[in-house]
Amino acid sequence: AYELPTRNFDLVNAAGARIPLGLKSKSLRVLVTGGSGFVGSHLVDRLMARGDNVIVVDNFFTGRKDNVLHHLRNPRFELIRHDVVEPILLEVDQIYHLACPASPVHYKYNPVKTIISFINLFSSRLRYHKTNVVGTLNMLGLAKRINARFLLTSTSEVYGDPLEHPQVETYWGNVNPIGVRSCYDEGKRVAETLTMDYHRGLNTEVRIARIFNTYGPRMCLDDGRVVSNFVAQALRKQPLTVYGDGMQTRSFQYVSDLVDGLMRLMEGEHVGPFNLGNPGEFTMLELAKVVQDTIDPNAKIEFRPNTEDDPHKRKPDISRAKELLGWQPSVTLREGLPLMVSDFRQRIFGDLKEGGS
Ligand code: NAD
Ligand code: UDP
Ligand code: UDP
Repeated sequence: AYELPTRNFDLVNAAGARIPLGLKSKSLRVLVTGGSGFVGSHLVDRLMARGDNVIVVDNFFTGRKDNVLHHLRNPRFELIRHDVVEPILLEVDQIYHLACPASPVHYKYNPVKTIISFINLFSSRLRYHKTNVVGTLNMLGLAKRINARFLLTSTSEVYGDPLEHPQVETYWGNVNPIGVRSCYDEGKRVAETLTMDYHRGLNTEVRIARIFNTYGPRMCLDDGRVVSNFVAQALRKQPLTVYGDGMQTRSFQYVSDLVDGLMRLMEGEHVGPFNLGNPGEFTMLELAKVVQDTIDPNAKIEFRPNTEDDPHKRKPDISRAKELLGWQPSVTLREGLPLMVSDFRQRIFGDLKEGGS
């Protein structure tokens, strides 16, 4: 073993210019909970590219090791299998708290009509409660102890089935506290409450993002979300399942836009909450049409009964993020959708079709 010299020294680059290493700002130590999931792994890619030291804490409930496999040999990267419901001791500068079993299959499906039993459904819901409440509390306790900045990824679901349209951050929402979605939307509302309490009561530096429906490569294939369902169905030559009359709306954001917003929020001076979403609003039938145009014009549509408490419409007002974070999404649905298709094709058909897309 040997020690590296600790004194500051300058490098001379190929052109003979001096690069003062002593002035280079220290690279950050960043914790990403849920970092092997869909959004988290894209965020990790950006942080690693920036030169940060990144620790991912994930229990792999809905995330996959595959999503961060390409960083495993990098000495600046560390992957810890851990459930945030249990306390953990780490030393970092920033915490992006994404951990949440974020998949509608796990909480909102009618167990009589699907393969999910009541017992499994209950234990999934319990997992939401524990992760959103105890998990968020633990990560706030950690942030407080080590003086780290803490960012919560909340959700547009906190607006429930909104009576105001589009949704502004000052709107308090219309949520059913005992409905099928409550373990998710009420759970995130509690997480926001905890975050603001640590901020106001203990001066913990916090940031809150309210994320609207996001899609892109590495989305869970069978998690029941509408974009992943439609894309997988079109590729598998199955009918696109439209719930209800298909006239309900959502606003779909490409994942790179979201990651950009999350990083600006973390680095900026404002607590939030901030809506991070793409204001482009689509009915589910319009989304099905975009999927048909992108993947298979002959894809059939099949109507299914809708789930309970399904919000009728959703669209973010992003004026606050535009003004205070200088952020707005840049990828439209028609541009973003093709970008996830080759990833889905490869994961669905495996190596058989590799190179064909
Ligand atoms: P995801 O399921 O792909 O990622 C969540 C990650 O958290 C997974 O890797 C999962 O294994 C991990 N996790 C779950 N419970 C955990 C626990 N107790 N301990 C440690 N790890 C745990 O979902 P995503 O879409 O990437 O969502 C990331 C965050 O963004 C979530 O907090 C979600 O609520 C929020 N969000 C996402 C969307 C969206 O459209 N994708 C919309 C609104 C909010
Ligand atoms: N916690 C943690 N890591 C830390 C510090 C705290 O996981 O480095 C957890 C701790 O176990 C507790 C929670 O965060 O369950 C809240 O901690 P805090 O210190 O705010 O509250 P207290 O422990 O005093 O109840
Ligand atoms: N949906 C649909 N077909 C599907 C899955 C979902 O029509 O295969 C509808 C669902 O009823 C809802 C919308 O798509 O109105 C968005 O659902 P998702 O679960 O993706 O997101 P969330 O409801 O959480 O916004």
